Amino acid sequence: MKILVINAGSSSLKYQLIDMDGEVVLAKGICERIGEDGGNIVYKTGNGKVIKKERFFFSHTEAFEELVNLLTTGDAAVVSDIKEISAVGHRVVQGAEKFSQSVIIDQKVLDAIIEVSPLAPLHNPAAVAGIKACMEVFPKETPMVAVFDTAFHQTMPEKAYIFGIPYEYYEKYHIRRYGFHGTSHRYISAKVAENIGRPIEELKIVTCHLGNGSSIAAVDHGKSIDTSMGFTPLDGIMMGTRSGGIDPSIIIYLEEKEGLSYKEINNILNKKSGFIGVSGYSSDSRDIVDASLRGEYRSKLACDIVRYQVKKYVGAYAAAMGGIDVLAFAGGIGENSLHMRSDVCKNMEFLGIKIDEEANIKYDRTEHDISAPDARVRTWIIATNEELLIARDAKDLISK
Ligand code: ADP
Repeated sequence: MKILVINAGSSSLKYQLIDMDGEVVLAKGICERIGEDGGNIVYKTGNGKVIKKERFFFSHTEAFEELVNLLTTGDAAVVSDIKEISAVGHRVVQGAEKFSQSVIIDQKVLDAIIEVSPLAPLHNPAAVAGIKACMEVFPKETPMVAVFDTAFHQTMPEKAYIFGIPYEYYEKYHIRRYGFHGTSHRYISAKVAENIGRPIEELKIVTCHLGNGSSIAAVDHGKSIDTSMGFTPLDGIMMGTRSGGIDPSIIIYLEEKEGLSYKEINNILNKKSGFIGVSGYSSDSRDIVDASLRGEYRSKLACDIVRYQVKKYVGAYAAAMGGIDVLAFAGGIGENSLHMRSDVCKNMEFLGIKIDEEANIKYDRTEHDISAPDARVRTWIIATNEELLIARDAKDLISK
């Protein structure tokens, strides 16, 4: 069975075609600058063929037409007919309280995704555009599945998701912690439990998804009970360009001092903060780590801040769960930054966390146990794979 996984942005389309027999990636790539000058599509097959085409894509529909063309015709085709694709799984950022698991998309589901769009104005409309375009290009009978970033965190208790503001704003506007990266946290926690050979229902796991966007989750007996991102993906720890959680009064103070509009402040908090804001140098953690190792003060400070924040979340979530059995690092930074893992795990023996520094270096970028042999808590590097989980959900739903 072959499943196509789609992650649609407002002007982009990331895709992966996965053969579920053996879970092998047949083709993957990205179409960028849809509706803009400089449109292009990159297509890579599992056996190493690469095609890059530059052309104007008027809409997501045209992008899908080109993708189907690449998948089914020419030297690099991986299927002979579009009908070989059994289902399409779509990543949807915000499912709010309407979706606690993945679903097959029908008109009611599509309407519900549109209804919660005000909660994710940049993301959900793009996903809807992707779904609709895909429906136009694929045969009517190809099932479409929606997999939500927020769904895994719907198990959080009220005390974790209600903010300390008048309750009526939750009732009127659905303002609450939703949490994001849920598909990744679900994948990481299941994978690490599988790797250590214990049922997830027995474990207290802290999952750290650290990339351009970063979030941490407390996964207690397989269920997310708290996570660092909040109403939007701006909350939690400092990220590449996002501030993470700050004292909300800063917004009002900045508005007064600098005469900034809320739109401008929103832009600063989402695009000009985090690594780039503190270091004044780069939003990419590789650059920041390099500069910090060269002794550049503000880059070192940016590294120190984010590692300190991750450490605090690990401690907080261990407290929330009444213990911790497993700590997992994933995402571009979690998997590739040995300094991050080393600093977060320093002086954490009191919690049972202790890594083997040599293993941390040796297994950098590899899915592996990096715990010290005598550590009570197992610390792992996990290669997250949201696309695979989306494909698995689609497969499970259409096989029911
Ligand atoms: P996204 O959230 O966009 O999916 P990724 O998970 O790909 O992001 O993570 C991107 C981040 O991972 C960037 O900050 C990048 O610098 C970082 N990263 C990738 N490789 C390394 C490395 N070798 N050392 C430190 N950071 C790295």
